[in-house]
Amino acid sequence: MEILLISACLMGFNCKYSGGSNALSSESLAALRARYRLIPVCPETAGGLPTPRVPSERQWDRVVNKLGQDVTEEYRKGAETALYLARRYGCTCALLKERSPSCGSGAVYDGTFSGTLTEGWGVTAALLRQQGLRVVGESGIAALLAEDVR
Ligand code: SF4
Repeated sequence: MEILLISACLMGFNCKYSGGSNALSSESLAALRARYRLIPVCPETAGGLPTPRVPSERQWDRVVNKLGQDVTEEYRKGAETALYLARRYGCTCALLKERSPSCGSGAVYDGTFSGTLTEGWGVTAALLRQQGLRVVGESGIAALLAEDVR
């Protein structure tokens, strides 16, 4: 069975900045579990940030929270932990929450805390991608499940 790294909040863990989750539907999770062994990771909590926490956004090569505090180091540590887990379990693909400053793929909020998206990657998504993993957002689940991996 293939092993898939997955954003913990997509599995229903309450690790989102607000204290909630981004749980996928039970049908999607069941379909993923039938195909993959799922390895959950929340890079932000793994990097030492509390839950709930002040929301953050990427500002070029830094990550800053809404109070103006620099949390780049916590995000970097979380990304390293996610990479460690991916290597430890032999993951070649990660299913990560879209638009997050850690997990986002292809589009993230632009650092102005105005709800504006811009092209870019979350810190963890970028590192995993740089290290050769395929990163897929939750909108790509159907396509992921439709692939023939035999
Ligand atoms: Fe979900 Fe990733 Fe944010 Fe953690 S860091 S709450 S896994 S999107």
